[in-house]
Amino acid sequence: MTAIRRLPETIVNRIAAGEVVERPAAAVKELVENSIDAGASRIDVVVREGGRALISATDDGFGMTRDELPLSVERHATSKLPDDDLWHIASLGFRGEALPSIGAVARLAITSRTRNGDNAWSLTVDAGRVGRVEPAAHPPGTRVEIRDLFYATPARLKFLKSTTTEMGHINDAVQRLAMAHPEIAFSVSDGARTLVKLPATNGDLFDIRLERLGSIMGRDFTDNAILIDARRDDLRLTGYAGLPTLNRSTTGMQFLFVNGRSVRDRLLYGAVRAAYQEFLASGRHPLVALYLEMDPALVDVNVHPTKAEVRFRDPGLIRALIVGALRHALTGAGHRASTTVAETALGMARPGAPPSVNTGYRHSPVSPPRGLSEAAVPFHAPLLSAENAAPSTPEAPPDTAANPDAELGFPLGAARAQVHETYIVAQTTDGIVVVDQHAAHERLVHERIKTALAKNGVARQGLLIPEIVELDDAAAGRLAARGEELAELGLLVERFGPGAVVVREIPALLGTTDVKGLVLDLADEVAEYGEALSLKDRLSDVCARMACHSSVRAGRRLTVAEMNALLREMEKTPHSGQCSHGRPTYVELKLADIERLFGRR
Ligand code: ADP
Ligand code: MG
Repeated sequence: MTAIRRLPETIVNRIAAGEVVERPAAAVKELVENSIDAGASRIDVVVREGGRALISATDDGFGMTRDELPLSVERHATSKLPDDDLWHIASLGFRGEALPSIGAVARLAITSRTRNGDNAWSLTVDAGRVGRVEPAAHPPGTRVEIRDLFYATPARLKFLKSTTTEMGHINDAVQRLAMAHPEIAFSVSDGARTLVKLPATNGDLFDIRLERLGSIMGRDFTDNAILIDARRDDLRLTGYAGLPTLNRSTTGMQFLFVNGRSVRDRLLYGAVRAAYQEFLASGRHPLVALYLEMDPALVDVNVHPTKAEVRFRDPGLIRALIVGALRHALTGAGHRASTTVAETALGMARPGAPPSVNTGYRHSPVSPPRGLSEAAVPFHAPLLSAENAAPSTPEAPPDTAANPDAELGFPLGAARAQVHETYIVAQTTDGIVVVDQHAAHERLVHERIKTALAKNGVARQGLLIPEIVELDDAAAGRLAARGEELAELGLLVERFGPGAVVVREIPALLGTTDVKGLVLDLADEVAEYGEALSLKDRLSDVCARMACHSSVRAGRRLTVAEMNALLREMEKTPHSGQCSHGRPTYVELKLADIERLFGRR
C-alpha cells in the first residue's frame, strides 16, 4: 500500500491537458479564443505538420504586462472571472487551464506587449518547466507559439492522425470561431501556403455575417438561405437557414452558436431535424448557421472540458424557439427551390458531363404534345381549394389560349406544354420552368390537408357507390382501428365483415381517386407505424400515399389552363418548391444559362 499523496503540479497539468487539448485543433481553438477575448481585430495562425511541429497564433489584442506573463501559465489563473461568478461568463475562456496544460506537454513561448507598453516581454515553458520573463521585440499584441506538441506525453502523440486529418480539424475550429466573429480578420497558413483567409469587414452585423458565412459555407448557401430573426422572452435567435432543396448527407454544415460560442449540442441538432422533417428524406440534412443569444445565467457552459457542449436552464423553450423560427422561415420561403438545382441540371447537360446522363441531344423529330388542343378532360383535383372543395363538376377553366402570354409575368411562368404526361414546361420572362407535376401535386395535397386540419377539418366527398376493398384480416382490423383518425383526414373507412373494409367518403380535394389502391397502400403504411404513432405524426407519408392515387398521378393529360392553375397554386402554397424528401418540384433555367449551354454566350 502507498500512502495518499498530492500529485506534482506538472502531472496535474498533463492530466488537464489530456482533457483540454486532445488534439492540435483543440490547442488552436484555445489560442484563438484567447486572442478573441483579448479584443483582437486580426488573428493569424500558422500550423506546421498538422500542428505537431508548430502552432502559432499572433494577435493585435490588448496584450499582457511583464507581471501578468508568469500568471498566464499558472494553473487556474485567469483574468476572465472578475466576480468569481460561473453563471455570468461573457468571455470564451474562464478556467485558466489552457496555457498551463499546453505548457505541460509541449514547448510553449509567449511574447506579448500591451497597447501602451514600451516593449514586449516573453516567457517560455518547456514540458512544465517555466523559464524567466525576458525582454523581447514585438508590436502590441500577443504571439503564442507551441512547438513539439505532446512530445512530453508520447502516448498521446501516437494517437494523432495524418497531417491532412489534423489540418482539417484545425480549419474547422478556426472557421467556427470566425463565423461567430465576422468583425475579426482570420488567416491560417501552413508556413508555405495560406489555407484560410478571411478579411475583416465592417458594417451591419447581419451583412458582415452573411459575407463571412458565404466565404466559409459557400455562396450556394448564402444564395439559398432564409434570414432568421426570432425572439421569445429574453432569447434571440438569428442566422440563416438553407432551403430544403439544398441538402447534404451529413450534419457537417450545421453550425450552432450560443452566446458567440460554437457548440455541438444534441438538443440543437434535434430541433433542426424536427423543423425540416416534413421536407427532407431521412438521411438528408439541411445547412444552417444559427446564433442563439441569451442571458448567460440561462446557460451553463462549464459542462465540458473543451466547452463544446452546454446545458440550458430551459431546454424546452430553446427547442420551441428554434423549431418555431425555422418553420416560420421555411413557410415564408413559399415555393422557392434552391438555385443549385438548375446548376446541377445544367452541369449534367454540359459537354464533358458523365456519359451515363442522357443530355437529350438527339435530333429526332418531336411531335407536338398531344392533348393541348383537346377539350378539357373533367379534372377535379389540383384546382379546388380546401374550403370550397365540393363533389361538383368543375367549371371549364378560363380560356388562356386566347392570350398565351397573359401569365408570363408570374414567378413560375405561363404553361406551354406537358411532356410525357409528367412534366409541365412553362415560360417565364427570362427563362423556362420544368415542373414535376406529380411531385408538385403531392406537395399541394399535403399542404391543403395540413391547412384544412388546422382549420375545420378535411372536407369529405361521398362516393356514389361505396367501395368495398378486400385485404387480409389483420390489415383490415388495423385500418378500422384507425377509423377515427382517417375520418379526420377525410377518409371514411369501416370494417366490412372479415377481410374487407368499405370506403364511403374520401377527401374532397383528392378528386377522382383510385380508392382501392389508396386503401391497400394506407394499410401498408399503417402497419409500419405500430400503435404508438399517430397518423398526424406521419402526415407527410399519409398525404403522399393519398396524392399518389388521385387523378393527376394517373398520367393524365392536362390542359394549358389546368397547368397554369397548378403553377399559380404552387406560387401561393408554402413549401411547394420541394417534395417531402427534399427533392425539387421544379427546375428553373434562366435563358442566359440556356444560351451558354448552346455556346451562344
Ligand atoms: P483562460 O482563457 O481560461 O483565462 P488561459 O490559460 O487560456 O485561460 O489563459 C490564461 C490567461 O492568460 C488569460 O486569462 C489571459 O489573461 C491571458 N492571455 C492568454 N492569451 C492571451 C492573449 N492572446 N492576449 C492577452 N492575454 C492573454
Ligand atoms: Mg483561454
